[in-house]
Amino acid sequence: MIYLPNFFKEQNMKHTFQTEINQLLDLMIHSLYSNKEIFLRELISNASDALDKLNYLTLSDDKFKSIEFKPKISIDFNEEKGILSIEDNGIGMSEKDLIDNLGTIAKSGTKNFLNSLSGDKKKDSALIGQFGVGFYSSFMVADKVIVTSLKANNKKAFVWISDGKGEYEIKECVKDNFGTKIELYLKEDSKEFANKWRIESLVKKYSDHIAFPIILNYDEKKGEDDKKEIEHKSEQINKAKALWKISKNELKEEDYIEFYQSFSHDNSKPLSYIHNKVEGSLEYTTLFFIPSKAPFDLFRVDYQSGIKLYVKRVFITDNDKELLPQYLRFVRGIIDSEDLPLNVSREILQQNKILANIKSASVKKILAEIEKISKDEEKYKIFYNEFGKLIKEGLYSDFENKDKLLNLCRFSSTKGEFVSLQTYKQNAKNGNIYYALGNDLELLKSSPLLEKYIQDDIEVLLLNDEIDSFVMPSVGEFEGLKFKNISEEISEEISEEIKKEYSSFLDEVKKILDSKVGEVKLSNRLTNSPVCVVSKESNPMMENLMRQMGQEYKEEAPNFELNPNHIIIKKIKSLSDKNKMEDLICLLFDSAKLLEKGSIENANNFISRLNKLIESNI
Ligand code: ADP
Ligand code: MG
Repeated sequence: MIYLPNFFKEQNMKHTFQTEINQLLDLMIHSLYSNKEIFLRELISNASDALDKLNYLTLSDDKFKSIEFKPKISIDFNEEKGILSIEDNGIGMSEKDLIDNLGTIAKSGTKNFLNSLSGDKKKDSALIGQFGVGFYSSFMVADKVIVTSLKANNKKAFVWISDGKGEYEIKECVKDNFGTKIELYLKEDSKEFANKWRIESLVKKYSDHIAFPIILNYDEKKGEDDKKEIEHKSEQINKAKALWKISKNELKEEDYIEFYQSFSHDNSKPLSYIHNKVEGSLEYTTLFFIPSKAPFDLFRVDYQSGIKLYVKRVFITDNDKELLPQYLRFVRGIIDSEDLPLNVSREILQQNKILANIKSASVKKILAEIEKISKDEEKYKIFYNEFGKLIKEGLYSDFENKDKLLNLCRFSSTKGEFVSLQTYKQNAKNGNIYYALGNDLELLKSSPLLEKYIQDDIEVLLLNDEIDSFVMPSVGEFEGLKFKNISEEISEEISEEIKKEYSSFLDEVKKILDSKVGEVKLSNRLTNSPVCVVSKESNPMMENLMRQMGQEYKEEAPNFELNPNHIIIKKIKSLSDKNKMEDLICLLFDSAKLLEKGSIENANNFISRLNKLIESNI
């Protein structure tokens, strides 16, 4: 056997942080600096999670049943030395856990978030505010962190040490009771946190309703200076009661806000909350929050669920995306059931009737609350800006609540902004709700397709959200009114006589534009404009799908409609100079496309034709 000198042994224990962690540490230290006090909330929240996990195991797993569960989070500090420690007797971490949890970022959401950062410190700091920074926030206040941990039912304990500068070290150590202790050696400018008053007020502010007791240990000096005695004392500094189990009348708005902030790691205030206790054949409590800002991962496939499931106050999971419908994924909160068994597995959860009942009642409550918010237009604008797209997503997936969701939608229209369908309904004509689809609101507003509707004083909804084009055509009806896409309204009132008169001219136009257009026809929907293009209903889903498969998506050529009453059309029709006719038709077609899309394909041709035209008129 070869004996290695100590030096080499030490070297072997060093590990390097995953690149993303260095990135996160760097970003945090620079951008969350003014809010560094949240480190304590994060560490207490981790301790509480660890207690939750052990609680569940002692109740559901035979191997853990002999463990007596006496949950506690202890805080100790040394004011002179600037040391602060947070200890729990929860599940603990093995050597592998330490490496996996405190050296790598496993969650793909977090990884993607970090990779999507721009490098622009200002923009990135705004983003990180909506993001649970977790354990690594300890390096905002400490230049050395020591984690000592013994996993429940394991024999070997381990210590993890790091200064947060790229590396950490793990060694075996001795620890009597299972759980985790985190010691922070505070930086010079953060020594203030090793102080009784400061700790108490931070726990009150962020962690009062952590469901386990938080015990502060401190020394009290007694007697006169010359015969000073030191007495060791302990006190519980939080309420330690699951907030959602407290009756509504005993809670103030601040209690809810503070709970929300520590629960969701979001520093802003929620827009609203719904606290509901149900008794009867099913017993459960729900507490939901509607945030005022969308989380960073709202539109990612790997978004984190915002709902935690508890059974009789025992935490079960925060990773079940079926607890609420997907379109309500911005809602944060808690479902605590009295009826589910504690050892529910994920598969059981999926088809559990109790849960399905709770889910559908919860959706109704949440939609009713959003409806309440909608009465306050200013507040609703905040909501709609962040989550309006998801309400539309709901139209597509939650058929049962379609009418409620439609009532929550707001649109731009030819007569106003933020128009509800109730408002539209008051002046609806012909039993229809008319809408126009496009990518750009300004272009939509100037679309020639609207002319006839404006003339007839018919309001048209202007839909420029990407999701509109596949949601709205499938909606069908709202309170007896039919949704009608104005580009699909077909003009019928052109007389046979005029049709005959224009028939050969239309053929000529078709020949000139060839494959660039679908049909060329006369239109009565125009008043001021000579022509317009009418695109076929676009299909963004198909478009996306084909792009994902690496194929090019070719839009179908639009129809080209001509206004037979317009002087320009009348004059072009009677031209005998066929070259001139071609130039003018091409110019008209390109300008109509410009109005629709905001750009044209062959700007060079367009300009040279335009120049020719200008020249001949000077
Ligand atoms: P998150 O809590 O969002 O998972 P953190 O960065 O706060 O992220 O913590 C990372 C992981 O480290 C946790 O998921 C957990 O597995 C582990 N961990 C942190 N603190 C503790 C603790 N006190 N006891 C047990 N495990 C812990
Ligand atoms: Mg955490």
